[in-house]
Amino acid sequence: MLRWGLIGASTIGREWMVPAIAAQPDSTVAAVASSSPERARRYADELDIAKAHATVADLLIEPTIDAVYISTTNEWHEPQVLAAIAAGKHVLCEKPLALSLDGARRMVAAAAAAGVVLGTNYHLRNAATHRKMRELIQTGAIGQPLAARVFHAVFLPPHLQGWRIDRPDAGGGVILDITVHDADTLRFALGDEVAEVTAMTANQGMARAGLEDAVMGVMRFRKGVIAQFHDAFTTPHASTGFEVHGTDGSLYGRDVMTQRPMGTVSVRREGRQEEVPVDHENLYERSVRCFNAAIRGEGEPAATGTDGVESLTVALAVREAAETGQTVRVSSE
Ligand code: NDP
Repeated sequence: MLRWGLIGASTIGREWMVPAIAAQPDSTVAAVASSSPERARRYADELDIAKAHATVADLLIEPTIDAVYISTTNEWHEPQVLAAIAAGKHVLCEKPLALSLDGARRMVAAAAAAGVVLGTNYHLRNAATHRKMRELIQTGAIGQPLAARVFHAVFLPPHLQGWRIDRPDAGGGVILDITVHDADTLRFALGDEVAEVTAMTANQGMARAGLEDAVMGVMRFRKGVIAQFHDAFTTPHASTGFEVHGTDGSLYGRDVMTQRPMGTVSVRREGRQEEVPVDHENLYERSVRCFNAAIRGEGEPAATGTDGVESLTVALAVREAAETGQTVRVSSE
């Protein structure tokens, strides 16, 4: 049985990841660490976790913990991942992997040197809808992909209107929160890397002044696809979507940029549009299943540490493009 420790008494842990780890036949949540002893205790009691630790070091020193899931605010990811790796733990870290590219690269290098598994929790790669679109693209169902559109503007629910909208030092803002997901999902579906980006941001009144709560932009991929994206915290009535248009057909993913196992995929070609069946599965459960398998030496996490570096590179380039008004070349090397 793999014993997981949580670093961070977070909402995502409560809502999705603790149940996802517990749902596996081969893993259990054994401990949680928080910067507040009271919060750790309350969280452990609420979620039926045996041990609550007041420091990350106390959790990491436990020899019986095999893997840690890190879901603190973003500025903590790098030091906590490095500490966990130094303690010999496998690490599944939330996105964005770090706040800087150098930091993210250090994390990947440290995991490789220590021989532990490092994953980035990009849940959307685990969605049956996105997996189906990737498969259809790979098998040539739409010919050569030419263009993509990502609709990922949402309304940030009141219980999450905290650091995301008022703490730039914690990696707040919609680009590091949502655009990283677009970058990772496009990379996954297209099997290609971003070459350059351009973008404009806005503050539409939810985030504090100086922090973006909406962004639109374009990514150009190395093989030529151009992809438009719209991400926001501010649109209560927008629906989400993911489209890829090719020489021989178009893919329409509807209501697919979400945490829930839902949404539809349809293909339009030769004058007909047909929905493609997908077997929905809890995205976070699949993420943990793949990670547990990777610990046993069977395959890789759904999104690796390197995927975390690549998508962060794109997001930082989007931020730079918006700030400078220039097209920014993307390079993670
Ligand atoms: P939360 O704000 O819920 O939790 C983040 C941290 O805030 C916790 O680790 C905790 O610190 C601290 N905290 C929690 N409650 C309180 C409180 N009442 N007062 C003060 N501090 C508190 O963040 P999220 O769960 O929304 O996000 C956490 C991470 O997960 C981020 O990196 C985010 O980007 C990522 N995320 C990923 C998603 C995905 O689908 N892949 C979805 C949502 C988030 P401590 O640990 O010290 O107690």
